[in-house]
Amino acid sequence: MANQPAPRRRVRHKSFTAQFALVLVAVGVATAVVAGAVAWVETQHARSQQDEQTGAGASRLASSLVQMQTAAVSQRFACEVAALASTGPAYGAGSASLKTLAQAAVANASPGQVLLFLGTGGQVLARAPAASSPLPSLNVVVGGGSLSRRCTAPTSRGFFTYGSKRSLLGAGIAPVSVSGRALGAVAVFTPVGVRALQYTQKLIDTAGLHSTTALLVRGRLALPLELNGVKYPRGSSLPDSLGAALGASGGAGQASLDGSQYVVAEQPLSGSSGLVLAKLVVFESGAGVGVSVADLALPLALAVAGVLLLGMALVFLLVEHFLNRPLRRLDIAVQRLGLDAYATPVTVDSGAEEITRLAANFELVRKQLRRQLLIATGRTVIASTLTGNAPLEQTLDQVLRSLTNLLDADIAMILLRPQPQMPRGLLLSTGIAEPGPTWAELESTHGIIGSLIREPRFLVRTHLRPDERSEPEEQLGLRDCLVEPMRSEDHDLGLLLVGNKRNAYLDEDYTLCRGVADQIVIAVEKSTRLAVTQREATTDEMTGLYNYRFLVGYLDQQVNVAERASSPLSVLMLDLDHFKDVNDTHGHPAGDRLLRQFASLMVETIRKSDLAARYGGEEFVVVMANTSRADAEVVADKIRSAVEAMSVGLNDGAKVQITVSIGGVTFPEGSKGARNLLDLADRALYAAKRNGRNRVEFLDLTALASEPVKS
Ligand code: GH3
Ligand code: MG
Ligand code: MG
Repeated sequence: MANQPAPRRRVRHKSFTAQFALVLVAVGVATAVVAGAVAWVETQHARSQQDEQTGAGASRLASSLVQMQTAAVSQRFACEVAALASTGPAYGAGSASLKTLAQAAVANASPGQVLLFLGTGGQVLARAPAASSPLPSLNVVVGGGSLSRRCTAPTSRGFFTYGSKRSLLGAGIAPVSVSGRALGAVAVFTPVGVRALQYTQKLIDTAGLHSTTALLVRGRLALPLELNGVKYPRGSSLPDSLGAALGASGGAGQASLDGSQYVVAEQPLSGSSGLVLAKLVVFESGAGVGVSVADLALPLALAVAGVLLLGMALVFLLVEHFLNRPLRRLDIAVQRLGLDAYATPVTVDSGAEEITRLAANFELVRKQLRRQLLIATGRTVIASTLTGNAPLEQTLDQVLRSLTNLLDADIAMILLRPQPQMPRGLLLSTGIAEPGPTWAELESTHGIIGSLIREPRFLVRTHLRPDERSEPEEQLGLRDCLVEPMRSEDHDLGLLLVGNKRNAYLDEDYTLCRGVADQIVIAVEKSTRLAVTQREATTDEMTGLYNYRFLVGYLDQQVNVAERASSPLSVLMLDLDHFKDVNDTHGHPAGDRLLRQFASLMVETIRKSDLAARYGGEEFVVVMANTSRADAEVVADKIRSAVEAMSVGLNDGAKVQITVSIGGVTFPEGSKGARNLLDLADRALYAAKRNGRNRVEFLDLTALASEPVKS
């Protein structure tokens, strides 16, 4: 019941560290993906270029090798034989000796190599080996007359020419001259065969490549080819995909065949006139040259830098959104707390979980401070209200209003027990329909208020039970209540009740009500004491009538009022006749009793607006505002006759009767102030005594005008 902690708000924000980690992971993954992709693309591109370059290089190398093995070898051989033939007459110039020379030379030749001695007309003078195979076409070579004295041929490196049946030969020609006379020429032909190609291929593959070499003559295979396990016979053409991949001479392209990737490159093999007679094709398969880390460094660095930049921007936004902005708002809200007395809520509804939780805690603290401040202020206001000089009822009414505001309650009541000065008790309330129940009505009921009136104690009910609700509680619509008894040192003063509160009752509420109840007790007692003192100062103790001091002050006021309003004001002075005799006969207490009896009779006879006072001894004064002389005479006579008819029983059983003499005066007849009026009334009284007692005399002021006034 007591302090109910405010329900903790569930903050639904992700932890900032979780968000941060998420971004970092995302940035990391993005960096890896982008870097990987860039590296892969770069690698592919570089590999492709590398492969093509490797393929082109391999084909150039192959063609050089074939050139060297066939054409260049033929040329060198031809030069050597021609040089030997030119050395002298040992061999003579006859065909027989040439034939011998040819055969001797061929004995050192490679398999398949053919050597011809040609005459100056191009006719074959000798050949070795003997006519084993048809001669190659040499028209172009010899018929062109291009032989020179030097050991050079149409090309010094040799050249290619067709053999029989699409075969290709590497050829070399060297002139023979003896003693400055041209004798003819030596021609050597070396076939470009499978062995030459295999040898070439082997040499290329020593560089770590996987190559296959093919020879194309007039677009057809001059030698059989085996590629990826498939055999292509001599005379057939290349598979379409490979043929299409071939670029220009020396160029390279890529193609796939039966699921394998190839880099295809070709090199021309030219005849003596430079005409392309055949093409050497090299196929490269498998992995090319690897890409080095250095090649990838720049793109990789750029990609990583880009992604990191993006990541940093994201982190900045994240920090701004989840940390900086909410922290700024929290800072402003907290700064404002002291400025507006904790009135503005501290709300930070976005940001990292840690900050929203911090803000929620600030808000709790703010609410508590706000509440304590309000209660402290309210308590001060109530205290100053209660120590003020306003009338008690007005003060208590103000206190009840402050209390309902502070506690956020609908009803507040102060029930004051009946006292001598307040015979019916007092019920002050706010928030209930008028007129509320009286103390006596409440006291007789069986609800919670009735029972607390009979047996005062502290009590809090968040819900009244049915048996605690009787008619007054129903009429008030009381659902819940907090009741504080109000006790002075020696007696119960009453109850302070607060009801229908909109929030739960808290410890501070009890403290507040306890303090207010104590202050009310002080205020009520002060008010009571003041009333008693005032009463004692203005009344005569024995008769209960106003005393001489009050009479003079009151009469002064009334004279002023009568003067301003030009209204009449009558004053009666009364003196009991032969009162001394009563004392003397029946004793002083009997005289006192008679005096009290006379006082009551007088009060009963005059009007409520008239004032009766004891002037002193057995002399009394009645002041009648707004009363003419005639009316005053009537009142005076009423008193006189009533006293005459009065009989006072004494303790000893005797009865005493008495009479009164009354002198009167009516303002403005003697308009010189209160004391003057009293003197005049006294003079009239004197006249009444003089004229026989038990009578009323009013002064005839015009007649008295010349007489000096008795001081
Ligand atoms: P009269 O006025 O008719 O001339 O005669 P009197 O006897 O009333 O006049 P006097 O002034 O001589 O006597 C007044 C008496 O009233 C004297 C006094 O003992 C008595 N007296 C005055 N005050 C009190 C009082 O408070 N109690 C009693 N028992 N007697 C009082
Ligand atoms: Mg007298
Ligand atoms: Mg007297």
